[in-house]
Amino acid sequence: MARRHTVFAFLLVLFLQPRAFAQTPVAYRLSFPEAAHHLMQVEATFTTVPPGPLELRMSRSSPGRYALHEFAKNVFDVRITDEAGKALAVSRPNPHEWDVTEHAETVRVSYKVFGDRLDGTYLAVDASHAHINMPAAIMWARGFERRPVMIRFERPTGTSWRVATQLTPGNDPQSFTAPNLQYLMDSPSEFGTFTLRSFTAPDDRRTPVFRVAVHHTGTDPEVDGLTRDVEAIVREARHVFGEYPPFEGNTYTFIADYLPWAHGDGMEHRNSTILTSPSSIQADRVDLIDTIAHEFFHTWNIERIRPKSLEPFNFEEANMSGELWLGEGFTSYYGPLTLKRAGLMNLRSFLRAMDEAVETIATSPARQIRSAVEMSRLAPFVDAATSIDQTNFANTYISYYTWGTALGVGLDLSLRDRSDGKVTLDDFMRALWSRFGRPGIDVPGYVKTPYTIDDLKDVLGTVAGDAEFAKDFFARYIEGHEVPDYARLFGRAGILVRANTDRAFAGELTLQDDPTGVRITADVPYGSPAYLGGLEREDVLVTVGGTKVTRAAEVGKLVTSRKPGEPLPVVYERRGMRMSTALTLVDDPRLTLTPVEEAGQPLTDAQRRFREAWLSSAARNSF
Ligand SMILES: [Zn+2]
Repeated sequence: MARRHTVFAFLLVLFLQPRAFAQTPVAYRLSFPEAAHHLMQVEATFTTVPPGPLELRMSRSSPGRYALHEFAKNVFDVRITDEAGKALAVSRPNPHEWDVTEHAETVRVSYKVFGDRLDGTYLAVDASHAHINMPAAIMWARGFERRPVMIRFERPTGTSWRVATQLTPGNDPQSFTAPNLQYLMDSPSEFGTFTLRSFTAPDDRRTPVFRVAVHHTGTDPEVDGLTRDVEAIVREARHVFGEYPPFEGNTYTFIADYLPWAHGDGMEHRNSTILTSPSSIQADRVDLIDTIAHEFFHTWNIERIRPKSLEPFNFEEANMSGELWLGEGFTSYYGPLTLKRAGLMNLRSFLRAMDEAVETIATSPARQIRSAVEMSRLAPFVDAATSIDQTNFANTYISYYTWGTALGVGLDLSLRDRSDGKVTLDDFMRALWSRFGRPGIDVPGYVKTPYTIDDLKDVLGTVAGDAEFAKDFFARYIEGHEVPDYARLFGRAGILVRANTDRAFAGELTLQDDPTGVRITADVPYGSPAYLGGLEREDVLVTVGGTKVTRAAEVGKLVTSRKPGEPLPVVYERRGMRMSTALTLVDDPRLTLTPVEEAGQPLTDAQRRFREAWLSSAARNSF
């Protein structure tokens, strides 16, 4: 009995105390007295701080970006005080943390943060706007992750800046709230002047509002045209899943910065996306809307159908996931597929996107080294990661975007092939949605039912009506090193997969003109004629087939002027030494996807039906 009583008292303390604390929000105020110098001033107030050290942190990672980013490096002029402004003693246990041991119930923090990189991860402040990816800018406190947040954006004097964000509107147009830290960190905010458009698109259950906020150097009619494209993408994507997710606030916001000083990027969030490009709507519409289609598909696939390995997102460590071939790769397959179905991309462009992916996995030596699951786990080293030392990733790594695209089209065509079009990848995605996405959330910003790789096998077995098929597909193509039979699968849709046989090939070399000849500037692919002949990155080709070379373009011509099987003598310079070798040329293994009708062959009725069921719009036929 006594023991029971003790346990009861302990539980009471455990439940009551954090709840009392949990109700006081953390308050942030962002201001821009020196915007032209890329500085943001941040003031944060933590109230009802429990006794014990207050551990203030800058993040080391950002949702959807998998490499470590040391955001603390741009933070300076940090002042930590009590409510009356008296400085508190601070210790620094590591480069990302400020610990306050002695404090009362209120702790105030102020600091400046520098940011001048416009993309989906960093902070970019200038006289035209503040583009705020929260992890790059916001200091937070351990133990306060579940507290609500209030955030206020102060306009620089003389501006009429507005805010585009997925944050919940507060009492005035510059004040917002977030239910907790996860949601705040997932809520990039554009504070500036932008063109805003909106539309609604109903499904059977809801009528969400879609907003398109564009900060660019183009015209308003260009934004109107882009908004029409966005509307077509949104409607088409919805038909894959049958419904829109229940967006928090019933609103989804596309935030685009198309500015000459931006870096090309797209980043998914629960109810919004960041789209950045140095190009313009006028110059690069198809590329920009491909990114839009990709990011919007993420609102289901990764934001709500989420791997357990990424839930919840850890702001202190790199986030490793073996499922990015699905989260990113299938999303990259559905980008062009959505555009093709919505009539925004032609068949040729769609097939070019597919043949790049199929060719890479069919020909890359890296496929034998790591599986698609293992490639996904390399994301912390390749996703906007920087290293000073050389890597040999050109030979040991295939992007999970690329491999995942090839797996997406391979699985889609396999399902259609074996069921005569009755079962498709859309059915698989819809089944994932109903099992892992639709169950929804208990706490906003968190996913209630994340999946594991075994769950995926299970769902694929159910959708295909054949657990053995699912087991086999995973073992051979996703966890193994084999390639689906693309020639046969594309053949069902009347598309030929052709290699350039009888054209000579020395390997896919990256070459650059050099004062002494032609320099190889990237890894020489394992197993290629150039590799087997001993050539290496940084070698300078002097003569090829006896002819002196000075331009990169000449090398390709000298290779293709010979026949596969012929030897090609090469003289080259390596670190000051002159050397020679002979390459044995092979058939060019690179692939192209060509519709049969373009190759002068007949398109059969069965092929036409297969192709139409795969690539035509679901949205246009059903309202
Ligand atoms: Zn993505």
